[in-house]
Amino acid sequence: MIDTSELVRKLRTTGATRVALQFPEGLKRNAAGVASALKKAGFFVVISGDPCYGACDLATGLLEMVDLVVHFGHSPLDDTPCIIYDPYRMDFDPGVLGLAIPHLISTDIGLVTTVQHTHMVPAITEYFASRGITCHSAEGGTRAPDPGQVLGCSYGAARNCGQTEILFVGTGQFHPLGVQLATGARVVALDPYCRTVEVVSSERFLRRRFALIEVARKAKNFGIILTLKSGQQRRELAERLVALRDDAFLVALREVSPDELLNLGFSCYVNTACPRLAYDDQERFPVPFISPQEFEIVCGSRTFENYQIDEIT
Ligand code: SF4
Repeated sequence: MIDTSELVRKLRTTGATRVALQFPEGLKRNAAGVASALKKAGFFVVISGDPCYGACDLATGLLEMVDLVVHFGHSPLDDTPCIIYDPYRMDFDPGVLGLAIPHLISTDIGLVTTVQHTHMVPAITEYFASRGITCHSAEGGTRAPDPGQVLGCSYGAARNCGQTEILFVGTGQFHPLGVQLATGARVVALDPYCRTVEVVSSERFLRRRFALIEVARKAKNFGIILTLKSGQQRRELAERLVALRDDAFLVALREVSPDELLNLGFSCYVNTACPRLAYDDQERFPVPFISPQEFEIVCGSRTFENYQIDEIT
């Protein structure tokens, strides 16, 4: 929930009078309500209408017309100035955690979740401790600084917990799949809102990626995508990949979308922007859209047995 009274209080302490609001796609419908509360409190408000999927894509361009940007739904990836974060914490009934117990085989487990629920890690740990299960949650690094926090581009907290069985608490299928691929651990995913529990299998995902790599092997040329979004930009990686083949070319752009890429006409694209684009959005692209590690397999510098999920470190 967005606590607008608390936000107004926080903004007043900064001395800002002109404020921009940036929401990820799933929270954009809150924009009008939050803007109205701030306007009533005397602030000049601008809403960023551009697409946003993470704190890797801050609306810093708006700082030309406002004092501060309030970014909702994520925690900081770096120390970009003049940004206030509201991670949009979400509670759930801890009783739902009991649904995971029959699916766990160990009494020592790793615990990971997304930023919406990291404030609940102590309560989750306590819940399992009282039932004889010890949860280990680790810090994942600067991109995901809360203990137990994972991002779609960063699974350090899962790796660092050092457990062979990991419980993911949260919504969606991508994060637990990423945890499984990044760690090789047995991963149990509990969705506390749908009240579903699943033991994650990456088999189908890997089969589809293998098929895609086989198609990519026949490509006439490769566009290596380099995004201009600073929090996703991996120039060194992109330049290293371009050097792997004579028929690979660097393509710099801001928004990575099928429409943008279609006219360029490459027969395969390699994604160095947000890792999730290559995995989640393949169906939207008319040609293979592969990860850096998949491109290495195509080039023969990595084997499929050493498949790795793409992360930004
Ligand atoms: S790069 Fe992708 S997964 Fe990582 S924070 Fe940005 S939008 Fe999220």
